[in-house]
Amino acid sequence: MPIATVNPATGETLKTFDELTPDGIERCLAAADAAFRRYRTTGFAERARLLESAADLLERDQEDIARTMTTEMGKPITAARAEVAKCVKAMRWYAAHAERLLADEHPADADVQDAGAARARVHYRPLGPVLAVMPWNFPLWQVVRFAAPALMAGNVGLLKHASNVPQTALYLEELFRRAGYPEGVFQTLLIGYRAVEGVLRDGRVAAATLTGSEPAGRSVASIAGDEVKKTVLELGGSDPYVVMPSADVEKAAAVAVTARTQNNGQSCIAAKRFIVHTDVYDVFEERFTAGMAALAVGDPMDESTDVGPLASEAGRDGLAELVEDALRQGATVLCGGRRPEGREERGWFYEPTVLTGITPAMRIHQEETFGPVATLYRVADLDEAVKVANDTYFGLSSNVWTRDEADVQRFVRDLEAGGVYINGMTASHPALPFGGVKRSGYGRELSGHGIREFCNATTVWQA
Ligand code: NDP
Repeated sequence: MPIATVNPATGETLKTFDELTPDGIERCLAAADAAFRRYRTTGFAERARLLESAADLLERDQEDIARTMTTEMGKPITAARAEVAKCVKAMRWYAAHAERLLADEHPADADVQDAGAARARVHYRPLGPVLAVMPWNFPLWQVVRFAAPALMAGNVGLLKHASNVPQTALYLEELFRRAGYPEGVFQTLLIGYRAVEGVLRDGRVAAATLTGSEPAGRSVASIAGDEVKKTVLELGGSDPYVVMPSADVEKAAAVAVTARTQNNGQSCIAAKRFIVHTDVYDVFEERFTAGMAALAVGDPMDESTDVGPLASEAGRDGLAELVEDALRQGATVLCGGRRPEGREERGWFYEPTVLTGITPAMRIHQEETFGPVATLYRVADLDEAVKVANDTYFGLSSNVWTRDEADVQRFVRDLEAGGVYINGMTASHPALPFGGVKRSGYGRELSGHGIREFCNATTVWQA
């Protein structure tokens, strides 16, 4: 894919960018290496001052960068503004809490002291330059979620952003520079995915984090494995959304519409499979389908738009193929299932869609639907709900609607996912870890877990 801004609402190429040359990449790696040697010795107060400054600038830039994101990848402008606000909050959170999260740990175990190390402790040190391979779906948030903790820990960042969001990528580099970070502490590499291997194998790069598709994750993880470098992977999901008889079904159906279609349905933590107990199935199906059908699909710059275009033609076509495959094999469309009328020619739009009659043979049963398409399942009881929920090779997050505490205990025990959200939709928060199991990846972002991923937990043995 060329590095370019292509407006998904029109298909028009607005700006193209040259890839960094090998010499340019070398200059960035040398700058990252040099920057790390100095930056690693800065204290938390200095790092917090810089991150606060970046947060203040980002807050001031909210409207401009929101419009850039919407232009590059098509999310509704209201969602783009909310993404900026979320980034500002996360930056301030890490500026305020990193020192506490990385404070020395003193083992309580008396054995350690008996062994002669009265002052034994765990001390967290940064690892070095970290390569971040990032996707376009939350082009600011995905990067900030990595950068805020990484920079507070004393690491430096090398961003390889998705090729369709170059202006957002360059904005991020500029933001950190304007905030006063020393040269080389945060750099954007305008490179295609083929150049990732060379960067990752370079001895100056200590580790990598990737958010994106499974093939991309597998490739980066295998190269990093070969180089014995730490990785964190966040690879998408097919999150279940379970509704039990004791639930507030009206609310569950209303939230389900947002949970499925936020960010035009292109979110790894979007609820994708709706698994509903037979006692409340009919009412849920009716309310949910009505809510999906009522969404306003259109120009993402329009304040009243709920669902904009998908980010790329390939993404839209891939989604349509999943739906067509299901229909060929007997699924039923309750709404949508096609491109919106009047938008056949321009832009990569797809109607909010609800399908029922899903069988395991259909691709849609297993594959991630990265767009506004929901699948509905009717289940007889809690055991079947758990079974269907876990019948996926993903394991990112999960949602359960119930007012029965026994149900809660079962779902928390048995759902194979990195999160279980009860009576609400999955949303990340800086204070809580974020990440998955199974093929959704490994490692955690956010919270203390996230900041420690790219740290050297150093045992200090001192008598
Ligand atoms: P990709 O995984 O291809 O892109 C994400 C990032 O990885 C981009 O920076 C991309 O670079 C890079 N990349 C791609 N292939 C490799 C590789 N072999 N080695 C190193 N880096 C690589 O996602 P797509 O945009 O193609 O989306 C495809 C599907 O991936 C979606 O339909 C969805 O299922 C999933 N996805 C999940 C996301 C999530 O939030 N977990 C986010 C985005 C996608 P470049 O842009 O230059 O190709």
